[in-house]
Formats: sequence, structure tokens, C-alpha cells
Amino acid sequence: MTQAASPTPNTVTHTATNTMADIETSHASASAVTDTTVTLCSSEAEKQNAQIRSQFPALHQMLDGYPLCYLDTAATSQKPQMVLDAMAQFYANDNANVHRAAHQLSARSTLSYEKVRDQLQQFLKAERREEIIFSHGTTESINLVAFGLTAHVSAGDIILIDAAAHHANIVPWQELAKRTGAVIKPIPLDQTCRLDVSAYKTLLELKPKIVALCHVSNALGTVNPVAQLVQLAKKQGAITLVDGAQAVAHLTLDVTEIGCDFYVFSGHKMYGPTGIGVLYGRFDLLDTLAPLLTGGEMIKRVSFEATEFGSLPNRLEAGTPPIAEVIGLGAAITFLQTELTPQVQAYEAELVNYLQSQLRALGEVHLYGAFDDNIGVVAFNLADEHHQDVGILLDQQGVAVRCGHHCAMPLMQSLNLKGCCRASIGIYTNKDDIDRFVAALVSVKDLLL
Ligand code: PLP
Repeated sequence: MTQAASPTPNTVTHTATNTMADIETSHASASAVTDTTVTLCSSEAEKQNAQIRSQFPALHQMLDGYPLCYLDTAATSQKPQMVLDAMAQFYANDNANVHRAAHQLSARSTLSYEKVRDQLQQFLKAERREEIIFSHGTTESINLVAFGLTAHVSAGDIILIDAAAHHANIVPWQELAKRTGAVIKPIPLDQTCRLDVSAYKTLLELKPKIVALCHVSNALGTVNPVAQLVQLAKKQGAITLVDGAQAVAHLTLDVTEIGCDFYVFSGHKMYGPTGIGVLYGRFDLLDTLAPLLTGGEMIKRVSFEATEFGSLPNRLEAGTPPIAEVIGLGAAITFLQTELTPQVQAYEAELVNYLQSQLRALGEVHLYGAFDDNIGVVAFNLADEHHQDVGILLDQQGVAVRCGHHCAMPLMQSLNLKGCCRASIGIYTNKDDIDRFVAALVSVKDLLL
């Protein structure tokens, strides 16, 4: 998994080949960065950005006389026209249930549906197409794993969870612990809001059964060196899951390079539709998961005496799947593979740096976990003002940001915060969005302070 290097100084580039020492050193240097003067990319990059932006119809609207400034991509991304077209096309021409019927429509829809599994295998660089399971989102994917592993876990087993995790990567493990008597231990963050690698190494000496990590924090945008963290966990024999919900729209992924047992994400955060998610699992382990859902589609033979389950991937996809959403996801993957070039990744990185530097320059703004290698997200509060008030006043000027605990209450507690505002960018965000957001925040500041 790589993020394209940004031309700005002090940028930490994460690659799967960084050693732990590199990571620790780069973390130290990143935390020493105070302010930087950020110059945005060339007009070429701006032109490319404008071309991408033109593909997103929802971005071109006015709100109360203001042009929409959408900085809530981490919650859900806007959708390009090709995703909308693919879904409409499916319903208009091919709509039929998959895998079941002898007729042509069903054959077409099955072909389109299964083609997306092939696309995902290639997108993630998975070894086998059967390692790709369709779910309804990241939350369901983690539940599939946490439920499916029940028989693997015994009383007293340890489950390590990243302290920056989204609730979706906490609660299913707590439920697993309730069922089995396993013990949850958080992996703490250090003072700079990064995963504390030395505390992690100490926790790994306890030989945990499962290690649940996030790739990119949804609340802060900080990036974990997941390949190295997974490698350390594997040495101790742990099963590893990486939540890639906030990584997948920004980074180039390679699950084999990361080496994790499970990697999960949602379609709607990567320019695809809602209601579709992905569970990648290493075949041998995936094949041992007990199915969370049972019923049609996932069986080989059923009688009133007993049922024999089918094989992967169907065994973990009971019932009629979200077919149109899978097809929309396929279009989103094609979109990302076409548009998310290293230049575009560099532009995104520069926008995040620019946003941070503009907020620092404003004064009276607290930034949380802000590094120049953050992905997509800037978390902040305006002085001691309530995040919700700031969000509402920004909305009155057409600026959409997220305010609250960001489904990361344990993280907020460790930061001693009730919540914060989060501005998050996507492939379509431009400098004008950032400037309009900062100007709106200045007027909120003038009003409140
Ligand atoms: N994990 C992370 C890091 C997230 O950001 C989110 C959503 O915000 C989730 C999990 C849950 O995703 P979903 O609601 O699509 O299941």
C-alpha cells in the first residue's frame, strides 16, 4: 500500500517496506513539524482536479445562496456519474436475481455481479477471487469476522484493539468477548495521537488471539504502518483484521503486501453506493468462519435433518445480495483505477497540508493528531466553542463538515474531548473548497469569539 509522495517538505511516505525504525523516526520528525507554508500544485493538477470534479453532479449545487462546499467525504463520498449510470443501467436492462435462474437476464446479472468480484481481486491484489466476500458495509464485514471466529476463541484469550478504532471495529469484538470470555485490551496511542508502537510490542508479548487495527483513523486521519504492525502481530501468532474504510479511497492497496488475514471496507466511502461492503479474507482462515447469516444461496444441500453449507464465497453471502450496489461498486473501482493516479494522490496530500496550515494560521483553532502525512481528514475545534455550534454556523454558509464523536468515543475520551469538527476531503475537493471553508470559519470565529 503506497501513498504518493507529496512535494512538501517533512512529508512521511508510507510504504509496505518502511522498517519500524523508519516509521518511529518519521513519526518523531512529523510531530516536530509546526507550521509550513504550503504551495499548491501546478495548474496541470488543478486541471486534472477540475476534470474529476465535473463528474460529480451533486457537487454542483447551491445551498441557501452559497455553492456547496462538501467537506464530509469521510462520512460518505459523493458519487460520480458513471456509478449512477451503472446502477440505473442495471435496473433498466438487466435486473434479475443472481445465480438462480436459467433465463438470460439472470445470466447477465450474474455475470456482471461476479465480474466485480474479479475486479476486487485485482484491485486488492488478493490471491483468489473466493477471498472476496460482499457484505453491506464495513460494519457488517467486521461482524462477519467477529461472529465467524467464535469457535477459534476461548475464555482468557486476548483481543487487541487500536485505541483510534471506529465503534464498528470495537463493538463486534466486545460481543465476541461476551460470548467466549475473551479479554479486550486497547492498544494505546502515544502523546502525538499515533499508535504507540512500543506499547503495542509489549502487548503482543501477551500472545493475543486477535489484533484489530485501523488503516487510517476516521476521526483524525492518522495513518498506521499496517504492514509492519501486522508483521509484528503475525510473529506472535495473532489473527489480524485491518479496517480500511478510510484508506480505500485514497491509497493504493495490496492485501498480500500488508499480510493481514482480513481487510474490510465500505463502497460508499470510495465513490460507490451505500449498502455494499467488502470483506477480504485469507482463504484458509476465511474458509473456517462460521456464517453469521444462513439461508438461501449459501447452501449445498438442505433437508429437515441437516444442511450442508456451500463453499466460498457463497457460504458467507446468504440471501439475495445487493446486486445493483455491487455493480455500482464495480463502476467506482473502475473510476478509482482511472482517476486516482500518483499525481492525484499527491494533490490530495497537499490539500490536507494546505488545510492544516490555513487553520493553524487562523489562530484559536485546536488541531488534533495533525501530521503532514494524514489522509483525507483534519480534526479541529474552534477555541472552546461547541463543535455542534460551529458545524451549524458553517452549514449556514454552505459548508458541510462533520461534528461529534465520529463513532470513536474511546478516542475522544483519551483526547479529553466531548467531540470535535472534522473536515474531510475527497478526490474532487479543490483549493477553492478549502478557501471557502476557511473564510466561513473566520466569520464563525468573528461571530462567536
Ligand atoms: N470504520 C471506519 C474507520 C469508518 O470510518 C467507518 C464509517 O465511518 C466504519 C468503520 C463503518 O462503516 P459503515 O458505516 O459503512 O459500515
